[in-house]
Amino acid sequence: MSRSNRTDHIRLTSHPVPGAKHAFPIHWDAPDARSRGPIIGTVSRPQDRNVIGSHGGSYAVYRALAVSAGALNPLRRPDLTNTFPAATIGPFPQWSEPNRIVALDPWGHLVAETFRTEITEGADIRPSIAVTRARLDLPEIQAAIAAKRLKPDGNVVHANGSVSVVKIAIDPVWYLPGVAERFGTSETNLRRTLFEQTAGMFPELVTRPDMQVFLPPIGGTTVYLFGDVAKLPDHRTTITCRVHDECNGSDVFGSDICTCRPYLIHGIEECARGAQAGGLGLIVYNRKEGRALGEVTKFLVYNARKRQEDGDAAAAYFERTECVAGVQDARFQQLMPDVIHWLGLRRIDRFLSMSDMKYDALTGQGIEIVERVPIPDELIPADAHVEIAAKKAAGYYSPEAPTAQDLDDTVGRSLEKY
Ligand SMILES: [Zn+2]
Repeated sequence: MSRSNRTDHIRLTSHPVPGAKHAFPIHWDAPDARSRGPIIGTVSRPQDRNVIGSHGGSYAVYRALAVSAGALNPLRRPDLTNTFPAATIGPFPQWSEPNRIVALDPWGHLVAETFRTEITEGADIRPSIAVTRARLDLPEIQAAIAAKRLKPDGNVVHANGSVSVVKIAIDPVWYLPGVAERFGTSETNLRRTLFEQTAGMFPELVTRPDMQVFLPPIGGTTVYLFGDVAKLPDHRTTITCRVHDECNGSDVFGSDICTCRPYLIHGIEECARGAQAGGLGLIVYNRKEGRALGEVTKFLVYNARKRQEDGDAAAAYFERTECVAGVQDARFQQLMPDVIHWLGLRRIDRFLSMSDMKYDALTGQGIEIVERVPIPDELIPADAHVEIAAKKAAGYYSPEAPTAQDLDDTVGRSLEKY
């Protein structure tokens, strides 16, 4: 069953069939989904493919395991009945403005409706975005209500302390010419580097210049929206926003070496408050663990920081990362503003982040930021003062910059004291 579409030999898709035309051409900045064309990363109907890579981001590897184990029929198509978005997002002018969005498919949540006919006829077209609704129940929000910082209103914040949100999952879809431009390099160089650094995982990057879209095997983005989504297109709506990069240790487990979870929850509280005041709150959560260097690198850096001669000093914070990883940061904030464009926004009124990299990326992409809101001092965990002092010294937004003395005086816990 699971071998039913296999021939005896492996067919490489690394070169186009001479003279063949794409059945589904992609016109990236087209004004509507049909003229843009569907993104097809199917592995069961190779003749329909118009992108490099396959669906599901990093989970494509687990799909392969499921097929290998005989648990999943590779020909099976998703049944998309009733999966359509639980809130209306767009379309917005930004979706077809040249090079405004290059790292996601703005039409990715609408494919089941837009390409119903093609799907019925057997094309394997899958959504890369899903929009649903949820309630968040967080101990810190309960505490904010108990402390009377936040009042239940029965709409955004409920009597039991839960918070209503629209949540949106977004898989990366890269338009390679646009991605190359964001990084100030040529498409050829970007393709070649992606090919080489994945040890040749996607030969089409270098052999198929006719395919300009890549589904990279990386994590995606989740958006949590607070308030009335119908207000997105109204430019008078006050937007509260935190852009947060994944930190499993703090976000989920409460590890106290950094400010991630406290800042994230502060963001959620501010978003809920903004929505209660008639605005919209927005948490953008990007899967970029450990500055996109991964958790193994991150934990190695923690050890290197804690074991250096003068202890875990703020003054040497970035240096230790660079010693282990070769770079201080690999989060490519250049692509991050796409989700803000996708939501049709041109202004963020309250930006709950101190990161100069995020600020520069957003404003560089034409998004106005009215106010920057630092993390309140009382929310900084015991061992996280090293991180925050080092970041402020490196240019993170802060009402007052730390002095050289502050940096020298800020030293974290040693490995023996855990
Ligand atoms: Zn963290």
